[in-house]
Amino acid sequence: MTNFLPIVEKFHSLQGEGFHTGKSAFFIRLAGCEVGCSWCDTKHSWNSKNYPLFSIDSLLREIIKARLNGAAFIVLTGGEPLHHNLDAFCKIVKNKTNNAKHKSIKIHIETSGVSEFSGVYDWITLSPKRHKPPKEYFLNKCDELKIIINDKKDVIFAEEISEYLSKIKDNRYFNANKKFFVQPAWDSHEGYKLAIEFAKRNPDWTLSLQIHKYLSIQ
Ligand code: SF4
Repeated sequence: MTNFLPIVEKFHSLQGEGFHTGKSAFFIRLAGCEVGCSWCDTKHSWNSKNYPLFSIDSLLREIIKARLNGAAFIVLTGGEPLHHNLDAFCKIVKNKTNNAKHKSIKIHIETSGVSEFSGVYDWITLSPKRHKPPKEYFLNKCDELKIIINDKKDVIFAEEISEYLSKIKDNRYFNANKKFFVQPAWDSHEGYKLAIEFAKRNPDWTLSLQIHKYLSIQ
C-alpha cells in the first residue's frame, strides 16, 4: 500500500488538452518516469528522488479545497503516474469525497500504459509511445487515445495503432466509446504539420492542442 507519493506539483487549472479541454480540474503531477521520450516537455519530473513525498491525506485536503473552488475532476499526470501503485490513493479519495452533498470526485489519469494497472478511474487517457508500446489492457480500456506527433515515425505509429485497434475492437473488454486525438509535440514545426495532415485524412481523429501553453497558464 503506497500512502505517500512523490509529487512534482499540484494546481487547480483548466484541462488544456484532449477531450476535456477547457474544464476545471485539479492536477497532481507525480514524479518519476522511465519511458524516456526525446521530446518530453516534463523531463524535470523523471527522477522521483528529487521531489518531496506527500501523504494521501494531505493531497485529499487539497482535492477537497479545489472541488469547493470548482474543480470538476482530478487529473493524475506525470511523469508516469502508474509507476506508482495508486490503489490506496484512489480508494481513499473516492471514499472521502463521497458525502451527502457530493458524489465521489472523478479521477482522470494520463498514462503511457507501460506499467501495471492500479487504481480506479473515471477517465483514462492513454498516450502510447512508439519506443515503449503500451500493455494491451490500456488499448482496450482507455477512454481517450492521444498520440503525440513529433516526426513521420509517429504518424506511422498512429496508423499502426489505428489498425491494431480495428482488429481488437470486437473483444468484450474493448471500450467502444474511445475518442482519438493526435497532438503535435510542443514547439515541433514538423509535428504540427504532420498532425494537421493526419487529422484531415482521418475523420475519426481530432487535433488536440495544448491550449494551456498558448494561454500561458499552468
Ligand atoms: S511518458 Fe510522458 S513524462 Fe515520460 S518521458 Fe514520455 S512524455 Fe515525458
